Formats: sequence, C-alpha cells, structure tokens
Amino acid sequence: MTNRTPLGRARGALLGLACGDALGRPVEFRTADDIEREHGRVTEMLGNGTWHQPAGTITDDTEMALCIARSLAERGSFAPTDVADRFVAWYESGPFDVGNMTADAIRNLQDGVAPDEAGEMVWHARPEGKNAGNGSVMRCVPYALAFHDDLDSLDRASRRSSAITHADPRCRAGCAVLNRTVAGLLTGDGDEDPYAPLRGALDATDVPDDLRAALEPVARGERPGHLRSTGYVVDTLQTALWLALSAESAEVAIVDAVNMGGDADTVGAVTGAVAGARFGAEALPERWLAEIDEREELWESATTLYETAFPAVA
Ligand SMILES: [Mg+2]
Repeated sequence: MTNRTPLGRARGALLGLACGDALGRPVEFRTADDIEREHGRVTEMLGNGTWHQPAGTITDDTEMALCIARSLAERGSFAPTDVADRFVAWYESGPFDVGNMTADAIRNLQDGVAPDEAGEMVWHARPEGKNAGNGSVMRCVPYALAFHDDLDSLDRASRRSSAITHADPRCRAGCAVLNRTVAGLLTGDGDEDPYAPLRGALDATDVPDDLRAALEPVARGERPGHLRSTGYVVDTLQTALWLALSAESAEVAIVDAVNMGGDADTVGAVTGAVAGARFGAEALPERWLAEIDEREELWESATTLYETAFPAVA
C-alpha cells in the first residue's frame, strides 16, 4: 500500500474522477437493464455510445474540475471570478455535455451577472425538484486537494464555488461534505474505518435535513435502502459515497456506479474521486488510465494542488 501516501491519494482523487466520468459517458441516460442487455457489464473504456465519443473521453465533470484546478494553480488562490471566467470560456468552446443549471448560470455570467449571484438567479427561477442538480459536486474535488490542511477554507471555497452555478443549500453543503470527506481520506483518517471521514464531515458543517438524512446511514456503514443514479445532488452523493466507501477496491466502486446507468458519468465521477482518494492512484486500472488523454495533466495538477500552500479563503 505504498501508494496510499497523501500525495498518491490526491492523484487518485483527480484520476479517479476522470476514470468514472469516462467509463460512464457511453452509458449515460441508459437504464441498468439496457446496459446489462447490451454490454453484460461495463468494465472497459468504450467508444461511441451516448455522445458518440472515442473510448476514454472525459465529459463536463472532469473538464470543469480542470477549470477549477487550473485557476487554483495559475492564480495561487481561490479566485471565484477567475473560476467563473474559465467556466464561460469552456462553455463557449462548445462542450458536448453540459447540465441545464450550469448552462443557465453561465448565460447569466455572459450577461454580466456576478459569480456570487449567477447561480442564485437560476435557483430562484426553478421549482423544487429541478433546482438541486449534481453539477457542482461533480467538479469540486480540486479544492479538497488544495485546502486539505485548512478545512474552514475548504468549506468556504466549496460552498462559494458551488454557488457560481448551483446555489441551493443542498448543493453548497454537498460540496462541503464531499470535500471534507475527501480531505479526511487523503490524510488517512479513513484507514481504520472508511466511513469515519464522512461522519467527521457531517459533524463539522451545516447540512440541510434531507441531505443529512440521506448521508447519515452511509456514515454509519449502513447500505441505503434504494440507491439511485439521478441528477439530484442528494441521490448522487448518497450513491457515490456508499459505493466508494463500502467497496473493496476503487475499480469495483467505479464499475458498480457506472453500471447503474442514469447519470452514469457523474455518479461514476464522484464515486471515482472518493474511491481514488481512499485507495490511491496506483489502485486505478492502468488499462483505464491509458485511454485518458488528460492523464498527465491530472497527475501534475494533483501534485501542484496538494503541495502548494494556498492562502486562507475569507
Ligand atoms: Mg458529464
């Protein structure tokens, strides 16, 4: 287990995110039954499928995480306006996969709305049931690497960065809980008990009742009654945290997530980030990593984010 150093786990978090994203991309929106009929079980990077892309192609989940990672590395601090500018530039590049709330918020940014208000406007305009997507939790893990040793700053950066596109309290708290959990895994807090970092995260930060109710069984090591792979942030976090913290390996966790179908790339990505932080980069299958064009950048970026001392976030 030599790769279970904090740095090996930090690299595992970003590379695991990309592995889950790219493995899930071809089966996004499919049902588990359809996937079983067509593929048996998806365990290899596949070409075509949903989005008709080559094998190993990442989607918005990893691309937006890279926007955040590049901003942190190049600015040397959490700079929300710079993060928002990078989201806009990415959107203007014409990505094949972009979530509805994210697209609405980015159009607000294009119209000159401030980053702290763009997601708030989208949130107010949407009814319950369509206002708490998983588009911010899927991209937020770079902050856990950058602020692993300053959890108050990690909490603030996670929440403010979410609010650029996803201002619902469940989305903002979801990013804070996910990142506190990942930070705990990086520093070895989950070695004896993999659920301990999630328990610590739920104890340490404000979490809306419905998100807390979904995550407390997971934090006790109890399998939730019905795991769902949807775009709702509460479902995504419950499923991804359960799969990543209960699995015997990162590969099993990610394969299980992707084969649920539904929001397969994002549930795969969040599962992969947590499982990668838990088991380390060397636990990720080489046959997957070899297909990912961004592998080198993700590795280097994880190193930079983990090793740089970032100023506290106000
Ligand atoms: Mg995606």
